[in-house]
Amino acid sequence: MTIHEANELLRKKQVSSVELTKTYLARIDKVDAKVRAFVTVTGDLAMAQARQADKVLAEGGGGPLTGIPALIKDNMCTKGTLTTCSSKILQNFVPPYNAMVVEKLNSAGAVAVGKANMDEFAMGSSTENSAVSITHNPWDLARVPGGSSGGSAAAVAAGETVYALGSDTGGSIRQPASFCSVVGLKPTYGRVSRYGLVAFASSLDQIGPLTRDVTDAALVMNVIAGHDTRDSTSVPAPVPDYTKNLIPDLKGFRLGIPKEYFVEGMQPEVAGAVRNAIKKLEELGATTTEVSLPHTGHSLAVYYIIAPSEASANLARYDGVKYGFQYKDTDNVWETIEKTRQYGFGPEVKRRIMLGTYALSAGYYDAYYLKAQKVRTIIRREFDAAFEKYDALITPTSPTVPFKIGEKADDPLQMYLSDVCTLPINIAGIPAISLPAGFAGGLPIGLQIIGKPFSEETILRIAYAYEQAAGWWQNKPAI
Ligand code: GLN
Repeated sequence: MTIHEANELLRKKQVSSVELTKTYLARIDKVDAKVRAFVTVTGDLAMAQARQADKVLAEGGGGPLTGIPALIKDNMCTKGTLTTCSSKILQNFVPPYNAMVVEKLNSAGAVAVGKANMDEFAMGSSTENSAVSITHNPWDLARVPGGSSGGSAAAVAAGETVYALGSDTGGSIRQPASFCSVVGLKPTYGRVSRYGLVAFASSLDQIGPLTRDVTDAALVMNVIAGHDTRDSTSVPAPVPDYTKNLIPDLKGFRLGIPKEYFVEGMQPEVAGAVRNAIKKLEELGATTTEVSLPHTGHSLAVYYIIAPSEASANLARYDGVKYGFQYKDTDNVWETIEKTRQYGFGPEVKRRIMLGTYALSAGYYDAYYLKAQKVRTIIRREFDAAFEKYDALITPTSPTVPFKIGEKADDPLQMYLSDVCTLPINIAGIPAISLPAGFAGGLPIGLQIIGKPFSEETILRIAYAYEQAAGWWQNKPAI
């Protein structure tokens, strides 16, 4: 069910929030042993919130999210509920406060069914880096759901929640959305507060929705977007009603098709589906033009210097002293810190910490980190120039359909290549959405629509028009 469908049923009193919540909890019970999208199920909390929502609804109150089940990625702080980032080092961490987005969902009357599995500290593209379990793709359980928000995307696809929140540092909302055939929006950097989001790479991280359709993404954005004085990078720009502009017509829209995104090694079925989608956008009234963003090819290198550098600084706080897991059997405090990090972090997290520490060390800082920041500016300017001529850019989300579990796990470089089409967007701080654009051999393909800063309304409209015309979103996995 979508949010707007559930909302209609609740308003017409055809179902209560308690009934709806019980149905979803039963569904989780039934399929999550196979999907493993959840690290924590908060059944009691959900039922209490559902009863409260029913009271509010009975009085004619509440909003579009009231009484509807939501799932939150496990890197967003939830007061009183474990927040582990799917890492051993936070296996017992219960935050004393809520992330801003969680506060906002609570105020909107959302029903929290649990916390979603993820790649440890959001580092990965397959959810195989979780210290808890591997999440399985509901379309084919032998394949990955993408990552790092793989739990969020898989749960939406498998009908274990109506919608979910994810975080996106280099593609972690959009790539799993693509792999699971759901909608995923990464907002403009600064549009949604990061307060209470466990930091991975602070200049790239952004929270956004994973939903069944575009209307739902707009509904969630209406609640979570906005300025927050507790996040100094959050922008005090007014929040529009993101549902207002959802019109199934694209007359007058100018769309650019950056040729560098059709990378070498891309599966031909993916390129074909995206070409078909571009034709559909033209039928809806848009004009499309091939464009060139020549520095796109440097994005991967820039990202894998900047993200690990920031991660190495952000993850210095996990020392076993302040909170989380502590290795106890030691002689002195230094050994405690060392052993805590040795046993608490998984291999990918350690790899990032080492890469980042190296890139930031004296003597290498100018050669790597500073150089990467300069190229970052060039990439951003290239986008700015394109947006002088075009309303949005259209690309694939991922060069491939979901791959098999284990297929890339031993080859970090192959894994990093999963995000070639999504990384540049975080580097530039701009918004992008991924939505279902077809299937190859029964496996999902995603279309990415990229916009200028704070143009979420525009990309949502283009996505909506395409979604309504193409209808891919209506397909559901057999699970
Ligand atoms: N896959 C990328 C990485 O491992 C992006 C992750 C993300 O967006 N959180 O860094």
